[in-house]
Amino acid sequence: MTSPATQAAPLLIARHADVLVTMDAQRREIADGALVARGGVIEWVGATDELPAAYSDAVDQPHVRVLELSGHVVTPGFVNTHHHMYQSLTRALPAAQDAELFGWLTNLYPIWAGLTPEMVRVSTQTAMAELMLSGCTTSSDHLYLYPNGSRLDDSIEAAQQIGMRFHAARGSMSVGRSQGGLPPDRVVEGEEAILTETRRLIEEWHDAERHSMLRVVVAPCSPFSVSRDLMRESARLARSYGVSMHTHLAENDNDIAYSREKFGMTPAEYAEDLGWVGSDVWHAHCVKLDEHGIGVFARTGTGIAHCPCSNMRLASGIAPIRRMRDAGVPVGLGVDGSASNDGAHMLGEARQALLLARVGFGPAAMTAREALEIATLGGARVLNRDDIGALAPGMSADFVSFDRQQVGMAGADHDPVAALVFCAPSNVAHSVINGRQVVDNGRLTTLELDAHLTVHRRLALELALAAKAA
Ligand SMILES: [Zn+2]
Repeated sequence: MTSPATQAAPLLIARHADVLVTMDAQRREIADGALVARGGVIEWVGATDELPAAYSDAVDQPHVRVLELSGHVVTPGFVNTHHHMYQSLTRALPAAQDAELFGWLTNLYPIWAGLTPEMVRVSTQTAMAELMLSGCTTSSDHLYLYPNGSRLDDSIEAAQQIGMRFHAARGSMSVGRSQGGLPPDRVVEGEEAILTETRRLIEEWHDAERHSMLRVVVAPCSPFSVSRDLMRESARLARSYGVSMHTHLAENDNDIAYSREKFGMTPAEYAEDLGWVGSDVWHAHCVKLDEHGIGVFARTGTGIAHCPCSNMRLASGIAPIRRMRDAGVPVGLGVDGSASNDGAHMLGEARQALLLARVGFGPAAMTAREALEIATLGGARVLNRDDIGALAPGMSADFVSFDRQQVGMAGADHDPVAALVFCAPSNVAHSVINGRQVVDNGRLTTLELDAHLTVHRRLALELALAAKAA
């Protein structure tokens, strides 16, 4: 027989945070803050000296874990809405360092054609480790090529092992070069096979419940690599299961020119025509979304994954985030794939969002707190979730803490919350996902990172060498 104490779900009491940023409806920032989670769900949030006796009296019981956060700022875990994790094998490749989107893709497709299931698994965990250490607790990943027997299951299993909340986007490409598309024919799939496999993945893996750790997303890669039919059929399939949809849209001027030439429409018109608007849809980039497109997205609740580092790296332009937010378009942040943003750091991405908005639209275009809001609540809304992105009773227990004592934050005590964004991006001290501590004093608890990175390095070299030999 088990005692009542061991029967109870584990209780996590985090207390004495210098500031606890809730992102709740009142945007409270609680001094000497505390948070209590039972299992994967937050039960109580407030000032430490107001912690109910039922909790403070329980701290010595075996099923209770206490996290002392004096000297730390606590925020909700960040939500990454766009990534291609396999690309962490192809960072800083000389052939793709100095090109815009289409040239960059053309140089990389032949290398990516050598991906194996092991490479997908290992690179996904590497990308997730980097994200988790940078404050991210939920991520989407858009995997759109499946060479050599690779499957989305490879990245799903990788996420489950490392303990990240995951929105696995089943990408696809069906229009190869011989049909006027951009990718080489050998990395595209047949459309029937894509839809059948996507249906299998949803039925096997998708969890629609509140606090879900895994959702499947339907995600044809982009207008220049799939057909109209596949876009339409994908939307029909996604909506028949109630799962979200994701793709790339309006990334740069060439992307707009392609859309006008092939479809006779702007990307926003094309998306609307295909049924690719709604609160269950989000598009990556939208750097070149015009006023009409902003209106359509606002009216339909269509979301955007804003990827400022990637947009700068590929010289795509400056997304009109201020205008989008003012119009009511849901905006989240995305680090994008590691081959077009070689540093996948969520706090760094929030900082770049602020800086780039100001370069484009002046010093009032974004505040530090708005950057944090986009990184948390914004991403949650884009992923169509109301259970993450804020710290309040009933929300998922996903939160991170940053140590204020590090040299990069010295002298920033005037506003430790804004300092997270204005100062050099730092890694987290602690991270909790679904009530489980996945980073403890700066170290991942769910992966032997050093040994893992040795394997990752070997696979990255093998992938590049295979392309040279081909
Ligand atoms: Zn992308």
